[in-house]
Amino acid sequence: MARLRVILLNAALGPLDYRAPQGVTVAPGQIVIAPLGPRPLMGVVWDEGSFPDVPEVGDNRLRPILDIVDVPPIPAPLRRLIEWTADYYMAPIAAVLRMALASVSALEGERTVIEYRATGVLPERMTPQRAQAIERIGDRQGLVRELATIAEVSDAVVRGLVKQGALAAIEVSTDTPFPEPDPDFATVDLTPEQESAAGALVSAVAARAFKPILLDGVTGSGKTETYFEAVAQALRMDRQVLVLLPEIALTEPFLARFSARFGCVPVAWHSGLRQTERRRAWRAISTGEAKVVVGARSALFLPYARLGLIVVDEAHETSFKQEDGVRYHARDVAVMRAMFEDIPALLASATPAIETRHQVEIGRYEEIRLPARFGGAELPEIIGVDLTHDPPDRGRWIAPPLMTALRETLDKGEQSLLFLNRRGYAPLTLCRHCGHRFQCPNCTAWMVEHRLSRRLACHHCGHSVPTPDICPACEADDALVACGPGVERIADEVKALLPDARTAIVTSDTLWSPARAAEFVEAMNAGAIDIIVGTQLITKGYHFPELTTVGVIDADLGLDGGDLRAGERTFQQIMQVAGRAGRGEKPGRVYIQTRLPQAPVIQSLLRGDTEGFYRAETDARKSAHAPPFGRFAAIIISDTDGAEAKATADRIGARQPRMEGLRIYGPAAAPLAMLRGRHRHRLLVHAPRTLDVQAVIRKWLAGIDWKASTRVTVDIDPYSFV
Ligand code: ADP
Ligand code: ZN
Repeated sequence: MARLRVILLNAALGPLDYRAPQGVTVAPGQIVIAPLGPRPLMGVVWDEGSFPDVPEVGDNRLRPILDIVDVPPIPAPLRRLIEWTADYYMAPIAAVLRMALASVSALEGERTVIEYRATGVLPERMTPQRAQAIERIGDRQGLVRELATIAEVSDAVVRGLVKQGALAAIEVSTDTPFPEPDPDFATVDLTPEQESAAGALVSAVAARAFKPILLDGVTGSGKTETYFEAVAQALRMDRQVLVLLPEIALTEPFLARFSARFGCVPVAWHSGLRQTERRRAWRAISTGEAKVVVGARSALFLPYARLGLIVVDEAHETSFKQEDGVRYHARDVAVMRAMFEDIPALLASATPAIETRHQVEIGRYEEIRLPARFGGAELPEIIGVDLTHDPPDRGRWIAPPLMTALRETLDKGEQSLLFLNRRGYAPLTLCRHCGHRFQCPNCTAWMVEHRLSRRLACHHCGHSVPTPDICPACEADDALVACGPGVERIADEVKALLPDARTAIVTSDTLWSPARAAEFVEAMNAGAIDIIVGTQLITKGYHFPELTTVGVIDADLGLDGGDLRAGERTFQQIMQVAGRAGRGEKPGRVYIQTRLPQAPVIQSLLRGDTEGFYRAETDARKSAHAPPFGRFAAIIISDTDGAEAKATADRIGARQPRMEGLRIYGPAAAPLAMLRGRHRHRLLVHAPRTLDVQAVIRKWLAGIDWKASTRVTVDIDPYSFV
């Protein structure tokens, strides 16, 4: 193969042709370094004959590639997935490829690093920080930075311990193999229902063929325990498994469960990995040595050598939808990857998405059900609290029935969980004197007060300022009032009314690292926490047998936005949080505070009528031609210059195609009219299922130009409408 078609890691470029140096053979999928002008760039050799419209370059003008990176080639099924993702989500293929290559440094990084571990020698001069570091580091080994993080001290403290001989340097290869999970390490006796579900999953893995399966089981039914049997089967066949989780925070409890069952932790892949870890994991995945990989959505594009099974846990989670860069839905891409790899894809959920249920109904996905909780645990009792009848005191958010339940639970020595999906203390702060409201300078959003960190923060762009003492507009003293509740405020309310209760706030602000998550789980299991106040971070994955009471502070919150999935999301979120109650031997109770007790979704929740909810929601989608019965695509136009953004949006709007069944709404200023300093306009395309909406949009946008400063993004199957 003399002519090489190469995709370089540069989103502005299409594929380019090169040639192999004399006497060197290069196979499709190989990672190479090729010259672009004077610069060397990394890229991947693509299949012969791919991308037929690459500009012709005469054989004698082809430049040779510079080098071949010493890793296995990107396998063909992954190349097909990359092409499909770029095509379906209308993203540059190089941007998708970049996700597969993770980071260039992962491939080129150091082969050895210096790590440190305790020698048992105590430093001559002991300081409180040194003592803390020695205690927390224990017998762990790591880089200076890692040990400092574990010990919560500065790097200098760790370096000091090295100088003093308390820590010794050890040279380690970054390519040390990972331990192998043992499928027979600690097998579990499954219940007859679990056994038959596991049997079906095991046969699907053994069959080595594409099969999408929905594992639909109520919370606590043992879905994880059951799909672990399918993982074990893949291990016995020496094939790899990918388990996708919606959030890094869930990785920690998962790792613990996995290692109890298989004798060691799986390989974790997420954005928090350091370069050396990334390199080690990437390489082990590409050679097939990393047997089980658990990760957030980015793990989906890694070059597994012998994938045998993909599991998407909590498959209904909307965080599987990536909202920047390549806007893909990891659940859907996971199924496509399984198709190209010819293996089963298993979606596990207690509250599957309407889209997934629909795939089952039309016979595309197989469904396996686990209808009962394990060990005879009952699903919790659900109690509605009508806030219009039973209001909390002024300036408070916990109504009397819920407060009574919290007190009873505390008296019994059991645990409670209050759920409110709002970080911080209050969503809005204003000046009682002049009415000034704190708004983010970069976004159409209020600044959220965080009392723990004493800052006002924007949850869209991260901008934050110290909470001022005086109003910046009228300079009134002591005049700022917090409007509405966030979790910190609810925690204050609990402390005021139940001073004996030990509370813990669980949000991404408090559980920002795996170590923090592990500490929290430990504290819960040790009974050191009575009442958790948490955001959606706490709604899934956790299993606390002493947690018997759950309170939903504001069930109506999610219904406000009124977008397509508002009802579904509310249902899923409350079912999930309710699923934390009564997982052990003690029965659970869930209090749902609402001002809309008659809303259909609240009624379904109170009646425990899951099927009724799905039926009504599916019918509503059908009559609105909404997904999965119709399709949406959004076009988002943004620019730091508002006039420019609007002009481009208007030009795009003026050229909109007219077609049977196709509806286009907008352009209009986006509800989130400014985000990170960019003014935003949107168009929404609503099309029948049968229409190739990507082709329509491609043709539509092809003849329109915009300035380099303007960004035009297409969001296929959007989840966000702001
Ligand atoms: P789900 O994923 O459906 O919410 P889990 O797999 O987390 O359910 O199971 C709930 C709890 O019951 C976990 O603590 C799990 O270890 C336990 N469990 C489930 N099935 C079994 C079993 N067959 N034997 C022992 N424990 C089980
Ligand atoms: Zn902002």
